[in-house]
Amino acid sequence: MPDSPSCQICGATDPAPFLTHRGMDIVRCRVCGFTWLHPLPAPATVSAMYTDAYAGTTEGYFSKVDKKMRRSRGRARALIGMMPKRISKPRLLDVGASGGFLVEAAREAGFDATGVELDPASVAFAKQHYPRNTFIQGTIEDFARQNPDTWFDAVYCSEVIEHVTDANSFVAAIAALMPTGAVLYLTTPDIGHWRRPRDITHWDAFDPPSHCLYFDKRTLPRLLEKHGFTDIRRRLALKPGLKLIARRR
Ligand SMILES: [Zn+2]
Repeated sequence: MPDSPSCQICGATDPAPFLTHRGMDIVRCRVCGFTWLHPLPAPATVSAMYTDAYAGTTEGYFSKVDKKMRRSRGRARALIGMMPKRISKPRLLDVGASGGFLVEAAREAGFDATGVELDPASVAFAKQHYPRNTFIQGTIEDFARQNPDTWFDAVYCSEVIEHVTDANSFVAAIAALMPTGAVLYLTTPDIGHWRRPRDITHWDAFDPPSHCLYFDKRTLPRLLEKHGFTDIRRRLALKPGLKLIARRR
């Protein structure tokens, strides 16, 4: 194809056409199966998408707060259980913190918790409702660059990596904030999941251009290994999603 892109996971060029949907082309790596929107949106377009993504929908987006907090508390408890006992107040970072639910749950569980989030409306909501935590507006790449001496014992990143255009810079920025042994909890839709609708356009997680990268149980661990993660374990996901726990090497 013209302007042939290379695979962000394995570097192979000449991906196969996968699907054209509403004028958008999805391609699939012939070598590793990684699937993505081509061309990817420009970074400025992505920022704009999240700057006004929730305009008019903020009410709906932050409904079901009780349900979000319940799920967040379960995950925060799981994460605190993975922290070494010698750390009295482990530090957690939520990448793509949304309205701050997991950050607040992490604080309740005993973490010193920070959230980074691109959408200013979400950051404003988080600061207003969960003021005992730290929330920062921006990309994780900028945060890592601006805080070279900052580190976290645990990083949580749920349903975010499918939105980014450069998975390598994203995961590299996360890895740079984690010392050896720190725990990463990462979730994203799973394009290879047995419960994904056979017609991908019927899958609620098939959502270009918002979701532009589509991982499976092989490509996501491979990406993490590339950026210095080890001991990668998959947690059971009944919905077509991936939940990985990994440690920084
Ligand atoms: Zn590939």
